[in-house]
Amino acid sequence: MEPSIIVHGGAGRWDPEEAESALEGLGAAAETARAILSRGGSALDAVVAAVVLLEDDVLFNAGTGSALNLAGEAEMDASVMDGRTLAAGAVGAIKGVRNPVLVARRVMESTDHVMLAGEGAGRFARAMGFPPYDPVTPRRRVDHLEKLEALAREGPGEQGTLRGLLEKYPGLACGTVGAVALDQHGALAAATSTGGITLKLPGRVGDTPIPGAGTYATSAAAASATGHGETILRLLASRHACDRVAGGATAQQASDEAIAALAPHGGHAGIIVVDAAGRIGVAHDTDFMPHAHCGVGGAGITARTRTAR
Ligand code: ASP
Repeated sequence: MEPSIIVHGGAGRWDPEEAESALEGLGAAAETARAILSRGGSALDAVVAAVVLLEDDVLFNAGTGSALNLAGEAEMDASVMDGRTLAAGAVGAIKGVRNPVLVARRVMESTDHVMLAGEGAGRFARAMGFPPYDPVTPRRRVDHLEKLEALAREGPGEQGTLRGLLEKYPGLACGTVGAVALDQHGALAAATSTGGITLKLPGRVGDTPIPGAGTYATSAAAASATGHGETILRLLASRHACDRVAGGATAQQASDEAIAALAPHGGHAGIIVVDAAGRIGVAHDTDFMPHAHCGVGGAGITARTRTAR
């Protein structure tokens, strides 16, 4: 079976120069995953390796360079899911680690829980040997101050909510990372990681670590979603897409339908999907969702940004 991998760098609005660098980073992540898959490695190893690389790239809002909450802290969400067994692992609002996706995998493999959150997640990470790490970059610090100032100057928008803020400042959510893959053995897996939405309330957990919302994988399909987390959570976009594939839709149809289902509730989201034949789907209603793909129907790496239809 020909393996397939697709990675995304978050739905939102990128400035054009950064979008170029983001595409390079995504191409490198897809290539790393492809190398693992082509030597017979598992979809799970491939998606985790891709996400680790993107968490370590300061450009993305995940791991190092995560967006900061209202209190100026990086509280990160991440999850992984193995489509063979429906095993899942997640961390919510974790602080002080370099690669939240590795802690999420550890939750899956070394505990009988699915998710650990906040202080407990941090304590678990230390117990598992993940050293203390400060993921806050100087650039994010400046960005956070600028956004706080803009908020003080211009107000939070009509609704005064996170969604209201996002409508007024689409750049508040951008740069989440995710990967979905099919391996040579026919297994599917998904992983997603984020710092969340800038200026979110401390303690807020979005869609990213919730199985079915930000991440899902079955024997039929794997999906990773990005964008306004509360909407994705309410509609369980990743589960929706995987169910549609199981029901006979193509990965592209399932992606389109999952994003269309979010529209009446405010949208601002994107999704990537791979099915059990390695075919991919990509949909987003935001200006950008940079992504890179390698596998069925694609020779080598395709790194591109598609604008909203
Ligand atoms: N979905 C993420 C969240 O709401 C943000 C994003 O994808 O940009 O935390």
